[in-house]
Amino acid sequence: MSLVFRNSMTREREEFVPMEAGKVRMYTCGPTVYNFVHIGNLRTFMFEDLLRRYLKYKGYQVTQVMNLTDIDDKIIKGATAQKVSLKEFTAPYIKAFFDDIDAVGIERAERYPAATDHIQEMVVIVKDLMARGMAYEVDGNYYFKISAFREYGKLANLDMDGLKAGARVAADEYEKESVSDFALWKAYDEKDGDVFWETEIGKGRPGWHLECSAMSMKYLGRHFDIHTGGVDNMFPHHENEIAQSEGSTGEKFVNYWLHAEHLIVEGKKMSKSLGNYFTLRDILGKGYSGLVVRYLLLSTHYRQQLNFTFEGLDGARGALERYNDFISNLEDFAGGNSNGEAAAILKRTSDGFEEMLDDDLNISGALGIVFDFIRDINRLKAEGNLSVAERDSALSMIRRFDAVLGVEVKKQTLESEVEAMIARRQAARKSRDFALADRIRDQLSGMGILLEDTPQGVKWKKQV
Ligand code: AMP
Ligand code: ZN
Repeated sequence: MSLVFRNSMTREREEFVPMEAGKVRMYTCGPTVYNFVHIGNLRTFMFEDLLRRYLKYKGYQVTQVMNLTDIDDKIIKGATAQKVSLKEFTAPYIKAFFDDIDAVGIERAERYPAATDHIQEMVVIVKDLMARGMAYEVDGNYYFKISAFREYGKLANLDMDGLKAGARVAADEYEKESVSDFALWKAYDEKDGDVFWETEIGKGRPGWHLECSAMSMKYLGRHFDIHTGGVDNMFPHHENEIAQSEGSTGEKFVNYWLHAEHLIVEGKKMSKSLGNYFTLRDILGKGYSGLVVRYLLLSTHYRQQLNFTFEGLDGARGALERYNDFISNLEDFAGGNSNGEAAAILKRTSDGFEEMLDDDLNISGALGIVFDFIRDINRLKAEGNLSVAERDSALSMIRRFDAVLGVEVKKQTLESEVEAMIARRQAARKSRDFALADRIRDQLSGMGILLEDTPQGVKWKKQV
């Protein structure tokens, strides 16, 4: 069966054909590390995790690169306010990012390059664009000249007719109304403090969009298979990436563009600037596990908005319990007779699961198939019509699915989750936030985990 994606570039459904047989190269825009990620960001990262896992399930060897944006206006402001270097300012948020993706079971990409380690690669692109007449300089600032790139606007489907030639925008983030020549490189400004690089194109720092062109092409080649992000990345970020990359190489940049819809709260995009956000830590602190958050973020189709509510989280917890109870009860099942029905159910389920995910990652459809399967197998069990061999086939099938879903509570997952919660409790105690420390202890005891303070530190055991 063939895998179909809805390509944001063509706005069509297209069969996925990799450039190199059996291999997929994909680039995913990563976090801006000036704060903790919020669960909206995690929704997009979860979609990318599903994409990655399903490609692997289909037998592809995946090379995924996710950048860390460790320089932009907000980061410079934060570092300057705290009088620390950029690296010192971003390091704790980079660590927190990895802790958070681990807590929700997002698999690691092959690479996480940081923007500040790739300044030279960005300078080379600016020079190439200058040489090709696609960029110009004003007082040490370098701008991309969008009138020189005829295809500008093709991703975001912009109407370029009313464009004012020569209008410029220096900000990294702006609306469609301000389609203009955009900054590739910003000349040093005193408000940047000691954040600058002395380069062949002068003293300054890169604009935001340039890093993703530089790092994607460095690690994946000038032309690669898939590029993803949240829908807010489509314009201007991805439009500008295309302009920079195709403008400097003269080649096609990306074959398939996939964009995740937003996680919203009361009808609005969850974002730091609106202040309507929850970090993962906020949610875990309320007693939900990383896997419950995973299930919630995973279970709505990536091209549909996901409205965040605590009722939704409770629903995810219920589904997660049903799924895991099914696995553990099946493991304990001693086996009965076979009436031949199980084979048909297994075949139907396996085909259905793939058919759904092949259809532009229709995860809600795939989960529907999984829960039908759970109901059917439970019925056979109750009727005594499931043999030991059939039980084992059913278990191995759900584990094959779980390589994509990642929602089985494994002993190992439990351990790392508990360790992470204990570490958060210790940190809370250290900073004298005893209310949070107690909440985490209660949350653990709700999970059947008892803590014991010993001279060697905190130990935990499972309640029997
Ligand atoms: P940022 O750290 O703002 O650069 O965002 C990291 C990723 O999260 C990008 O792919 C964004 O498109 C995505 N993103 C930001 N806000 C949301 C949201 N509310 N829902 C889903 N994805 C988001
Ligand atoms: Zn990017």
